[in-house]
Formats: sequence, C-alpha cells, structure tokens
Amino acid sequence: MRTPLIVGNWKMNLLRESSATLVQNLVDRLPGELQIEVAVCPPFVYLQDVGRALEGSSIGLGAQNIYHESEGAFTGEVSAGMLCDIGCRFVILGHSERRQFFGDTNESVNRKLFAALGCSLTPIVCVGETLAQREAGQTADVIDEQIRQSLAGLSAQDASQIVIAYEPVWAIGTGRTATPAQAEAVHAQIRGILGQMFGVEVAQAIRIQYGGSVKPENAGELMSQTNIDGALVGGASLNADSFVGICLASCEATPAK
Ligand code: PEP
Repeated sequence: MRTPLIVGNWKMNLLRESSATLVQNLVDRLPGELQIEVAVCPPFVYLQDVGRALEGSSIGLGAQNIYHESEGAFTGEVSAGMLCDIGCRFVILGHSERRQFFGDTNESVNRKLFAALGCSLTPIVCVGETLAQREAGQTADVIDEQIRQSLAGLSAQDASQIVIAYEPVWAIGTGRTATPAQAEAVHAQIRGILGQMFGVEVAQAIRIQYGGSVKPENAGELMSQTNIDGALVGGASLNADSFVGICLASCEATPAK
C-alpha cells in the first residue's frame, strides 16, 4: 500500500522569522492523524530550527540537496550523514533547478542517491521533461533515460525505499499544471520502467509524486489518479493556507492505492 506523501520545497525562500511562523502554522493547523504523510524541506540554515518546531508533530523534515561524499574537503557542501544527524528524513535529489543551474546530472543524482540511502534518508528523485522536449514528442524517452540512469545499480530492496517526483519543467512555478491525464500517463510509464528494473511488486510499492503548480484547487483531481501518490509543492508550500489546503484535498481524494 502506498501512503501519499506531500512535501513542501521551500527552495531559497523565507528568513528565520517567516520560517518559524510558517512551520508553527502548519503544526497548529494540520490534524495530528492524517492518512497521508507530510514533510517540509527548508533551506539548510533553517533545518534545525524548523526541526525543533516539528518535534512531536507528524510532519517530517527534509533537505533540498546533498553532496555524495560523506566528509572531507568539499567547501560549501553538506553530507547525507549531517542531515540525518539533525533529524532529516527526506532529501530532494535532482530537482530541475539543480539540473538547470548547478550542474546536477543523472550520474550525480545516482551518486547522491546511494549516499542518501546509506544514511537511511529517503531520497525524492526528481525527473521531468522541458517544454521543448514535450513539444518535440520526447517526453517518454527523456523520462526513461532519467529514471534508468538516476537509479542505475540500485537493488530492489533499496528501490523500495525511494520516492520519485515527476515534475514537468514547464509546469514548475509557471502556474501551468499538467492535466491529471497528462500526469497520470507519465506516472504510469514511470511505474512500468520501475517494474522492468526492480520487479512489479517493488514498483507497486514506490511512491511517485507529481510536482508543478499544485494548488488546493487542483490537488484533489491530481491525487485521485491511479499512479499519483502525492505532490512535491514549491510556491504553494510557502503559504500555510495553500499548503494545508493541498494536504486536506489530498487526504479526501486519495483512497489507499
Ligand atoms: C517544485 O519546485 O518542485 C515545484 C513543483 O514548484 P511549484 O509548485 O511552484 O510549481
């Protein structure tokens, strides 16, 4: 059974006070017992403060990136072990902004994936096509390559611990959401590839989130699709009303899959 997972990616937003206000609002307003899992991924510098505010709540803590090495002379980087040490449960890997601006590739995502799993962090591996790729009819090929290369060498047992986020790049931060049918088609394709790589049983257990302009108004229909198991939320996660709205709409829409 796949428990839907809603994750807020705060990106490089908010300051100490506004982070504290947002997380407190989430803790106060999200019911303690939800049929979904919820987590937030603040910037590194606020992880510990946010983590303390989340103590005793059911909301998990995640980070937005790691470096694949465990320690050493890597100025400016943060390891998976450091994140585990301060209570992180999740890490986003290969977000399209990191692929676009910071040189992340399927190969570097693959190295980070092993580092995360080695520390029992749940990796959220992001894949998605650009608008040009979609318009050129290349979506299926791009997704196939991203999934196979990012997850190369993973055992079926490790694969069962990961989360995939399908985020069409053209839908991120643009207000333009993939239709539920467009998203479901790619999610079903991803589950098929996972089945070929790790076996059908493992593929059925892996959560595949959708990301790209998810809002309270569209969350329900997206989450009710057979292969959509939650959302990775950017802009709308910076506002308690909209993030809570997405979580509640998702709870109503998602029967256990
Ligand atoms: C994201 O950056 O992962 C994302 C989905 O952003 P937004 O919700 O703002 O489109």
